[in-house]
Amino acid sequence: MSSENDQLVWKAYAVKDTKKWSEFEIINFEPKTFDDYDIDIKINYCGVCGSDVHTITGGWGGNTILPLITGHEIIGTVHRVGPKVTEFHVGDRVGVGAQIWSCLECESCKADKEQYCAKAVDTYNDKYPNGDIAHGGYSTAIRAHERFTFPIPKELDSKMAAPLMCAGITVYSPLKANNVGKGKVVGIVGIGGLGHLAIQFAKAMGAKVIVFSHSPSKEKDARELGADEFVVTSDASFANQWERKIDVLLSTADVSSGFPLGDFFKVLAAEGTFVVVGIPDDKLPQFAAPGLVLKGAKLAGSKIGSKKGIIEMLELAAKHDVKAWIEELPMKECGTAVKDVKEGHVRYRHILKMDLE
Ligand SMILES: [Zn+2]
Ligand SMILES: [Zn+2]
Repeated sequence: MSSENDQLVWKAYAVKDTKKWSEFEIINFEPKTFDDYDIDIKINYCGVCGSDVHTITGGWGGNTILPLITGHEIIGTVHRVGPKVTEFHVGDRVGVGAQIWSCLECESCKADKEQYCAKAVDTYNDKYPNGDIAHGGYSTAIRAHERFTFPIPKELDSKMAAPLMCAGITVYSPLKANNVGKGKVVGIVGIGGLGHLAIQFAKAMGAKVIVFSHSPSKEKDARELGADEFVVTSDASFANQWERKIDVLLSTADVSSGFPLGDFFKVLAAEGTFVVVGIPDDKLPQFAAPGLVLKGAKLAGSKIGSKKGIIEMLELAAKHDVKAWIEELPMKECGTAVKDVKEGHVRYRHILKMDLE
């Protein structure tokens, strides 16, 4: 176990050019300034999220802060705590997700919805209000505010807990917000890092789960993950067959071209909700207003979740044995891992094991 006397090393695998996005170089970096509520965490594992790929490729546009250290599905061990930290001690096993800071004073922050704080700082490719750069988890260590550090239940293996830090909460939070439970019919669009966890969480919450995928080859996996029904969306008749049957439809899809948005509105029940959590590089397709208006349906978005939500989600995962399907790689293979995600070759989450000293 580490102690406060050991020197923590700040090294990472970083991308220096978005055009060479799968070429990572080992760099030394400066963490943010240490504050009273901060925790230094020695990283053991980091999951590879679709967001990492959108950011290193510059797909989402905007400014990329180079060199860029991605990774926001972090599991590690507390190494040092600030003088005002009350929740954690040196040696505790903890996680960090996709958000690293918020103002803690606005209405969203006070209502346990800190993910919607206008001043929210992302875990990587972002800056703190004082200009310090936020660096992610393809690294030996991270410095995180206590509010954005989460205790990991003992029942959860570290490797299994990593993908829950972003993918897990991203799908759990909208299911919870839309009162998913017994008697509800939930549709999950897309089976990938997010979708494969969404199926399991919706089942754990007691819902009937219908999986919508353009790829018939995913049926076996969908059923193994707990899906009650599997619907192939490349067959245009699917919307007629499922018309008005789905209460909550959660879209984890990371594509927009050819996305049958109108058909998805058609399968929504009256006053049903279509929630988008995937963020493709391109805009969503246009749709005709009657698809929503004539049945009082809602089109919604959802971003990760709060600390309160993450703690609940971890408890549910431990209780119902929600488990990501993972492929572990040493972190030096992060270039291969991000290529696999970009090309859709991972079933369903790469977990990188820290290998730098
Ligand atoms: Zn993510
Ligand atoms: Zn705030």
